[in-house]
Parts: sequence; structure tokens; C-alpha cells
Amino acid sequence: MTKQINTSSPKEALKNIFGYSSFKGKQEVVVMQLLAGKNCLVIMPTGGGKSICYQLPSILRQGTGIIISPLIALMQDQVGSLLQSGVKAAFINSSLAPDEISTIEQQLLKQDLDILYISPERLITNRILHLLQNVPLALFAIDEAHCVSMWGHDFRPEYRKLTILQQRFPNVPRIALTATADKATRQEIQHNLEIGSDPFISSFDRPNIRYQVSEDGSSRQALLDFIKQKHPGETGIVYCLSRAGTERNAEWLQGKGLNALPYHARLSKELRKHTLERFLREEDIIVVATVAFGMGIDKPNVRFVAHLNLPKSIEAYYQETGRAGRDGLPADAWMSYGYQDILMLQRMIESSNADEQRKIVERHKLEGILGYCEVTTCRRQVLLNYFGECLTKSCGNCDICSSPVATWNGSEVAQKALSCIYRTEQRYGVLYLIDVLRAEDNLKIQERNHRELSTYGIGKELSQRQWISVFRQLIVQGFVTVDYTGFGGLKLSLTARTLLRGETTLTLRKDIEPKSWKKQKASIEPDGKDKHLWNTLKKFRYKQAEQQSIPAYFIFNDATLVDLVNKKPTQTKQLLRINGLGQAKVSKYGASLIALIKAH
Ligand code: ADP
Ligand code: ZN
Repeated sequence: MTKQINTSSPKEALKNIFGYSSFKGKQEVVVMQLLAGKNCLVIMPTGGGKSICYQLPSILRQGTGIIISPLIALMQDQVGSLLQSGVKAAFINSSLAPDEISTIEQQLLKQDLDILYISPERLITNRILHLLQNVPLALFAIDEAHCVSMWGHDFRPEYRKLTILQQRFPNVPRIALTATADKATRQEIQHNLEIGSDPFISSFDRPNIRYQVSEDGSSRQALLDFIKQKHPGETGIVYCLSRAGTERNAEWLQGKGLNALPYHARLSKELRKHTLERFLREEDIIVVATVAFGMGIDKPNVRFVAHLNLPKSIEAYYQETGRAGRDGLPADAWMSYGYQDILMLQRMIESSNADEQRKIVERHKLEGILGYCEVTTCRRQVLLNYFGECLTKSCGNCDICSSPVATWNGSEVAQKALSCIYRTEQRYGVLYLIDVLRAEDNLKIQERNHRELSTYGIGKELSQRQWISVFRQLIVQGFVTVDYTGFGGLKLSLTARTLLRGETTLTLRKDIEPKSWKKQKASIEPDGKDKHLWNTLKKFRYKQAEQQSIPAYFIFNDATLVDLVNKKPTQTKQLLRINGLGQAKVSKYGASLIALIKAH
């Protein structure tokens, strides 16, 4: 059967097929642009709703929409989800056998596909190009379009060859999409893919994500408390700096009864694939990973992203935390870091083989993320500012908005710390210096005769934890540097002198004490009597998914679950008003859902 021309308006189709009652952000203008046959570039953050921008016009225009994506997992995911919504979709990539590919090619020739996903390597083969020249095409969508940029973080040579699209298919509109916002990348995409018009840029704000940073030193106990109290039974990602860290922490969390798995680049390909599959399917899974985990993961109901170490830059942090809450429901970005992270990242930069130019950039990025961690104003304002957006009011949904940070005049304690570094000849690390300041009497201090120093015992007024905070801030603010060529001893920088002489004052932040999560609203799960219905519907979803061997969120996502529990529809026409339920899903699952809600 050839593709039926869908004559509904974009808005009707959005509701009937995808179950959404309105467009999100710039979706509508982008859809209209493509329906008018024009090219466009779309820049939206993760979770911004990029897929609708090309899926809907692919369905509404005559011919098949060709979606070029570098990520096999993502193609499979999107096709699986589209099939659930009754859209005729397929993919061609290296995971398919030749006869499977030829079946799909036949479908394409018979014009029986709304949407075809394909990898860039495959697209530029003569066979596929020839095939495409003989069928009507709705559009070309180039997903992850920043891969075209040589200077970007994910350059793929095949993307450069996509210039073939404008040469061979001048009349088929092209849409390029990316979540990478910087101007140079954007211009390179426009130039290479010949997209002349102004890009559609959405705000990078992710208002449903709550940002929180604590300085208590990569505390996995704090992580455990946070997960157990705020996100029990939910999906999350925990990022660590080292591969060993991922294994150690995953094992520790398992020992505490959580469904946690490690993930890093050195694990076998099979194991990584298996972990990714489990991550997509299981509801309570926590993947403890290095940055190797993430590209192309679009599970919508990741409820938290935790960092047990400091990320390398604000860009990395924003991209990683952006994997939380793609469904728009409340989610957490949680971080615990300590001065050891700063030392480790600094050491990585200084000891790498990169040229000086590159090191300057990396130092600058590290300063950026440290600045973010140590701020005393709204975190979202700082983040958006970094991406060139201005948020005039503080957000009300970050740790600092909820409990403002107190500051104190740290000039005097800073002088004590700096003199202690000086008196011990700029050779020792943080913990040893604190022992001297607090008049500990251990063997090392005795051997080095440091009880005789004028700075011995001058800092008893602060606890070890408080001193760690002071040293961390002295490092962050550049008064103290770390000697990586020696044994990591602290040294005074030139600016330290002004502090020592009392020519400048130093304002320090009071670190926030670890707090009880009980006071905050728990996860998205409802309380009271709705909890039973919530669990019943969740079980129903899980069972359906299991029977069809697909992830539960293909059946319906958490936003749909929330809407179902709130509205408790008992008639088909009410079901159609639920967020995320289109006609195909209502005919498939509607009767069962109504029965479950009525029985409740
Ligand atoms: P991106 O590719 O930009 O990261 P997606 O296309 O995966 O974003 O969409 C993110 C989430 O937003 C998905 O869970 C999707 O169901 C939801 N979504 C997209 N468009 C709408 C809309 N118009 N109304 C409600 N939810 C939407
Ligand atoms: Zn805020």
C-alpha cells in the first residue's frame, strides 16, 4: 500500500498521532517552514523536542522523510517508538542483514514508508543514492548536525560528504538539528549544508531540572542518601572521572541494594551493549559511568544525573545533566565534589601532551566549572549566562535559590593558611597543612620538627572539614597553586602576597551542610491513594513492554502516566486528551487502561 496523504492540519496530526495537544517551543515554526519546502537549521537543547520537527513534516508531506543519524541505538529507539504511534518507520544501518535491508528498500520503492532512518555512511553509497532518486522524498533531516564541524567535539568525516544532498536533491528540503550552540559550529553547519536562512534557536533553559552542588568531597554516602530518599526505584546516571571509580562505586551501590551497573570504554563491546539495553528497559536502573556513556541515549525518564567528581567544563556538565528529565517532569542534577577533584583535573591538564594553546583553553574551562560550583547566586542564571542567555530572575529551582549561601570574611584564616604554607617551605599537601594548623601531634609532624613552627596550632578554631573548604577556595580563587612536578605541594601565587599583607580582603562561602532530603518533595510518584493506581498502571506498562520486547516508555512515558493518574479518564474521548496518547495507542491500550482505572 502506498503512503496515504495525510490531510490533517499540523496541530491535528500532532494530537492524533503523537498525542500532544500543543507544540513545544519552536516546533511549530519549524514544521511550517518545512511544509513550505524551505530548509532550516534548528538548535534546541536535549529534551527540547527536536524529533517532532522532522517527524511530523515527514508524515504530512508527500514522499518519505529521510533521517540521517550517526547513532544506531537512537535510530532503533525512535523507530520502535514511532511504530507504537502507528507511523510507518524503518531504519537501515550496519546492524541489519542484507535481506532485511532489501525488504526495507522494497518498502521504500513501493512508497510505503513515512520515515526512514539511515546512517551517513550508508546514505552516500551509490546504491542508496540511486534508490532515493527514484522515489518521492518528503525531506532530509540531518540529526546531530554538529558532526559536520571540524572544530566541534564530535567530527565525523562522512558528514562532510552530505553536500551531495543539495547537489543531487535540490528540491527536497533539508533540516539540520543539533544541541550544540556555539556560533562557529552553527556557521559551519549552515555553510556546509547550504542552509541560508536564520537558525531557529530555542532557549537552553531546562526548568524542570533542579541543580545542586555540594562540596563534601565526592561523597558516595551522600549520593546513596539522595537516591534512597529522593529517587527510590527510579532511573539515574552517576558520572565518575575514572574507570576504576565507576566499578568501585557501582559495586558499592549494589551492596546497598541498588540496581547499579558500571559502564566505561574499556568494557567489552557486548557488555556495553547489554548494559545499554538494560538501561533502556529497566525502570530502577542506575548506570555508574565515565563520560563514555551518553551519546545517543534518549531515555525520557532519567530522573537524576549525579556527578561524583567534578566535570571538565560547564559544557560537559550541561550536556551530561541534560540527560535527566527529557520528558519535562521534575528531575535532579546532583553533584558532590572536593578539592581532590580540582587537583586531579589540574594535573591531567598540566601533564598532558597537548600544546600550550590547548592547555590555556582547558584551564579556562576548568575555571568556568569551578566558578559555577562556588557561586553564591542562582545556579541557573550562571549556566544560562555562560550560554549567552539572560535570566533576569533567580530560578527558585536550585540549591542556592532554596537555601541562600552565607558568606564570611575569610581574610584572617586565609592569612593563617598562607603563612603555614610558607613556613613549611611550600612542600606539603592540604591534609598535612591542616594537621599543622590544628596542632595534631603525629609522627610526621614530629620528624619534621613542625611543632616548633610559629604556625603550629594557630588554626584550632576551625574543624578539618572547614579548613578543607578554606583551602579549596584559596585554590579556586588562585591564591594558591599546586606543584605537579613535585609531590603536589601547595605553593603561594603572586596574589597571595596582597592577602598576607592585608591589602585585600577575602570573602569565603560557608559550605552548605548536607541536608535531609525528607523535607523536599519526593519523586514524581504521587502520594496517598493515587499511589496504588500509579503502580497498577506502571505494572501494566511494564507487562506490555515485556511481551513486545521493547522499553516501557515506548508504551507510554512518565508524563502520560502522571496525566492518567491525575485525570483518571474512563471514556475513550477522555483518553485522547491525555498527554502522549494518540489514536494508535488509544486503540491498542485504551480499553485495558479504562478497565484498570475503573477497577481502581
Ligand atoms: P530532543 O531530540 O530534542 O532531545 P525529543 O524529540 O526526544 O527531544 O523530545 C523530548 C521529550 O519531549 C520527549 O519525551 C517527547 O515525548 C516530549 N515532547 C516533544 N514534543 C512535545 C510536545 N509538543 N508536547 C509534549 N511533549 C513533547
Ligand atoms: Zn536558582
